[in-house]
Amino acid sequence: MNSLLLLPGDGIGPEVTAESRRILDALALPGLAISEAPFGGASIDAHGVPLTAEAEAAALASTAVLMGAVGGPKWAGVSYDIRPEAGLLRLRTAMNVFANLRPARCFAALASASTLKPEVIEGLDLLFVRELVGGVYFGTPRGIETLPNGERRGFNTQSYTSSEIRRVGVTAFELAKLRAGRVCSVEKANVMESGVLWREEVTRLHAERYAEVELSHMYADNCAMQLVKAPRQFDVILTDNLFGDLLSDLAAMSTGSLGMLPSAALGEAGKPGLYEPIHGSAPDIAGQGLANPCASILSLAMALRYSLGAPEAADRVEAAVEAALNAGARTRDLGGTLSTRGMGDAILAKLGA
Ligand code: ATP
Ligand code: MG
Repeated sequence: MNSLLLLPGDGIGPEVTAESRRILDALALPGLAISEAPFGGASIDAHGVPLTAEAEAAALASTAVLMGAVGGPKWAGVSYDIRPEAGLLRLRTAMNVFANLRPARCFAALASASTLKPEVIEGLDLLFVRELVGGVYFGTPRGIETLPNGERRGFNTQSYTSSEIRRVGVTAFELAKLRAGRVCSVEKANVMESGVLWREEVTRLHAERYAEVELSHMYADNCAMQLVKAPRQFDVILTDNLFGDLLSDLAAMSTGSLGMLPSAALGEAGKPGLYEPIHGSAPDIAGQGLANPCASILSLAMALRYSLGAPEAADRVEAAVEAALNAGARTRDLGGTLSTRGMGDAILAKLGA
């Protein structure tokens, strides 16, 4: 039986997660067990730690985890290892999630708010698969040293092993099979050895196991240009930690509000995925019913599609969000006046329709 663990967390986390919960209840998926646990600051308040051993075990035993957000000024002063954010890091480490999924999708109703021209952005639906636990952010040696001539030198190491490349490659190819069937692998093999290995390993993996998926390669600088010029050419973009960080932010901004952007982190096939909105706990609007629940609801749709084996339910949820937007439903971040609950109602109404 599939199980989904909800970790609403702090700030607007519980408000937006409650709307996802209502969507889940309306879907009434047979054989899906739903549970909930405190996380982050809420867990510190209740149990003294941001992630209890029980909550961690529940996450590892689940099929998917849907998080809200963690953190807030209330817990900013506490020592690092009992801060809300430490709970999130611990959860990510325990779940061994090495692939970060970030879709960039443009809803037609919001296309005019994009930084790109509507004719360039309309219909955009791409998915970044970013390697999350390796590369230049973690490579060694790293440091700041003083040279004999008195100059200081800061240095990092961009490093990938073939197994690190292959496991995230598997994730990208598997996801492409659930989508339009195309992977574009992005590196800078023209100037970086890690990029040469990246291209070789992805090419080999493709030939060995994923001939049915269309594979192309692109240098990261060209990819940045293409994401602005003609972003609809992409289905899945597979890239490393650093390029993925930059390129996914670039693509996200062209599709609109933070309140619309879901994400996921996946580990080995068959292990639970961690789904969460891109946005944080937004202490400035927490508790006021102003938050846009779409990022959480679209994260739920990703969980349905990529972990819970319910792609039709995912389609229904995404179509309901789209239909609600088409009907003019807008929270304040989208220039409207609907409350979090009101936006949830508008989506629920379309889900039933
Ligand atoms: P974190 O550091 O936790 O990732 P952050 O400080 O970068 O978070 P957020 O907490 O995401 O930022 O908030 C950034 C701004 O976006 C805030 O003004 C917040 O109110 C707004 N915001 C974030 N999420 C939403 C949402 N779902 N709906 C409406 N506004 C949002
Ligand atoms: Mg913040």
